[in-house]
Amino acid sequence: MKRVADILKQKHSFLIVSHKNPDGDAVGSSLALYSMLKELNKEVYVENPTKPAYIYEFLDDYDAIEYPVSNAKDVEVVITVDSAELSRCGIDKDYVKDKIFINIDHHKTNPAFGDINIIEPKAAAVGCIIWDIFNLAGFEISKKTATYLYLSILTDTGSFRYSSTTPKTFYIASKLLETGIDAWWVASNVYESQRFEALKLLGEVLKTLQLHYGGKLAIEYVTQEMFKNTNTTADDTEGFVNFARSIKGVEVGVLLREDEPEKFKISIRSKGNVDVSNVAEAFGGGGHKNAAGGNIDLPLNKAIERIIEAFAFLTKDER
Ligand code: 5GP
Ligand code: MN
Repeated sequence: MKRVADILKQKHSFLIVSHKNPDGDAVGSSLALYSMLKELNKEVYVENPTKPAYIYEFLDDYDAIEYPVSNAKDVEVVITVDSAELSRCGIDKDYVKDKIFINIDHHKTNPAFGDINIIEPKAAAVGCIIWDIFNLAGFEISKKTATYLYLSILTDTGSFRYSSTTPKTFYIASKLLETGIDAWWVASNVYESQRFEALKLLGEVLKTLQLHYGGKLAIEYVTQEMFKNTNTTADDTEGFVNFARSIKGVEVGVLLREDEPEKFKISIRSKGNVDVSNVAEAFGGGGHKNAAGGNIDLPLNKAIERIIEAFAFLTKDER
């Protein structure tokens, strides 16, 4: 962390990159670094493999995020945030060869692909690690930078509900609030500004809910046809998987999202002790103990069968 703090102070040009389909932590930690480095009068760019979802449009620097990743910016330092795999952030190995390549993450599955790696699985959000770095560097955190860090922490802790939330998480949040940020403005833009069409889609998705293993596994899905009928896109499914997990007695909730015909992105969420990151890895993905994802390229019914098989361990009592 000290080395990274020194690099932020001493180098002049930076590129910040996060994973495709960036969530609040990826967007928030990218923009926090961007805004801090801008305030330090550095040359800084933010890139992502894909366009961030419309729910983040309310952020001042939303338009600063360029996509896709160009692998062409002439900078001294490249920093990835919240990216468990190099392939998910669209960076070419050749591009970073002659640069200082820093990897800041909190996914335990991160293989440490950077020259410098800060990987803290215990950090509730990458925003917490960035806050530590800024603090160590002695940087003053502006209201704007604090807003980005707060977004990162708010979203990755499920609004301070997940077990990753610690006294330190609240300490950092309180320090961010002391800068004068408007917590409700952030929360309402993220959670209470949904498109009408997205709620209509949610209605369709909830009709697909099915339970397995005596109610321990809940599966729901969204198809291309449902997107078409409700005039929605994958961006509108943010948070849908939580409804599957929210059922009493459910230990694992899964959402299958048909991004292309018969190509499903799967989102997996669990409660308590059930670790779903290994199952996600078996589906070519990864993630955290309680939130992970992967991909299945199969027709819907076969894809559901594969998921049911993968969670057969739920029949055993693991506590
Ligand atoms: P979501 O279900 O919201 O897309 O993803 C939840 C978490 O699972 C993310 O924070 C990320 O860590 C992980 N994840 C989702 N999809 C993938 C994937 O394809 N590969 C990897 N390595 N992780 C993923
Ligand atoms: Mn994260």
